[in-house]
Amino acid sequence: MRTLIVGGGLAGLALARALGRAGLPFDLVERAETLRADGTGIFLLGNATRALAALGLSDVLAARAQACPSQSIHNRSGRLLHRLDTARFWGAAGPCVAVSRPVLHAALADAVPEGRVRTGLELAGITPAGAGHEVRFSDGSTGRYDFVVGADGLNSTVRSMLFPAAPGPQPLGQRCWRYVTANTLGLDGWTVMLGKGKALLAIPIEDGRLYVYADASAPQARDLPAAAPAALRALFADFAGPLAPLLDTLPPPEQIHAADLAMVPFAPSTRDDALLIGDAAHASSPNMAQGAALSFEDAVTLAAALKEEDGLPRALARFHARQGARVRHVQKQTWARDALRGLPDGLRSFVLGRFGDRLYHRAFGPLLG
Ligand SMILES: Cc1cc2nc3c(=O)[nH]c(=O)nc-3n(C[C@H](O)[C@H](O)[C@H](O)COP(=O)(O)OP(=O)(O)OC[C@H]3O[C@@H](n4cnc5c(N)ncnc54)[C@H](O)[C@@H]3O)c2cc1C
Repeated sequence: MRTLIVGGGLAGLALARALGRAGLPFDLVERAETLRADGTGIFLLGNATRALAALGLSDVLAARAQACPSQSIHNRSGRLLHRLDTARFWGAAGPCVAVSRPVLHAALADAVPEGRVRTGLELAGITPAGAGHEVRFSDGSTGRYDFVVGADGLNSTVRSMLFPAAPGPQPLGQRCWRYVTANTLGLDGWTVMLGKGKALLAIPIEDGRLYVYADASAPQARDLPAAAPAALRALFADFAGPLAPLLDTLPPPEQIHAADLAMVPFAPSTRDDALLIGDAAHASSPNMAQGAALSFEDAVTLAAALKEEDGLPRALARFHARQGARVRHVQKQTWARDALRGLPDGLRSFVLGRFGDRLYHRAFGPLLG
């Protein structure tokens, strides 16, 4: 069986690694010129590191990523509302860590078998050919594949070509900013401060650095100054410690990545000769840090199903039975968590202070297994 993976982001690279380890043949095309990526940081919860361990990448994580022992939520005055010991919750699944995106991306890219990847190449067209597909690429070359996997992100071309009825990206009504700075605060765990419809989050990553993420609802973001540092200072002017000192030492605007967030509502796949994985299938609000986690799970689960089941229909049925439920759960919970963040300050603080543990278990408990 010949498999084509379209996209060399975290999902596509993870699948390439998983298929390579399973001894299953594939080609991967990536439209960027290299498999290197820039970016800021990423938080990997226990189900993400469990999947990376299944891909044989535990050693890289142990060497490069920063362990994250706790997750703490504060209100905008700095009062601690909830704190979770990550090892106690995720212990059996895997450690919680944070790492810079370029490091994670490079670790996956370096783990992909040689000779199977072509970069600087886009998918140009797909036509049915017997039980599979005739695929055209942007350089005029063609290939015949039994199975096409769209790991081509939010604006997936595979989705529009092979799943025209599937919903595309939808705006989440949130703007976000991200950057990396020195961890001068001495933070040792994931730390978020919440105001009404806005969040300021800092996570230590490797080499004594801090990954900072901020977001605001679209109506608040609309009224902010255009330059990112000025926008962040205005947005969080009413925030106190522990994170307020970050606003005194913001990097220049070109080092702050700003983006409007979008999601792709998950729709069960309808084909036995093609599949979407990662953000192409289920991009979600980042409030659960599950996008990359689910992408890695997609890869591990799909490769195991392809190796162990007899034929594509059975393999895909097994894949959907497992991953469909997890993706639906995450998208439902991210929606609920975004809604909670929109509550008035006092009510949200009361809910998190009183029911923080219960809410965490409800959101992440089903992902432990
Ligand atoms: C602000 C923010 C913070 C996040 N934080 C976290 C976090 O802390 N933890 C976590 O687990 N997740 C997080 N996520 C989610 C995570 O980043 C994504 O889910 C993950 O990167 C998706 O990877 P992907 O490979 O599916 O998509 P992408 O990274 O978009 O990769 C798609 C690839 O396909 C290529 N491509 C596209 N079209 C074509 C084509 N036609 N032909 C060839 N190649 C093509 C692109 O160049 C790209 O390389 C966050 C997301 C956001 C937006």
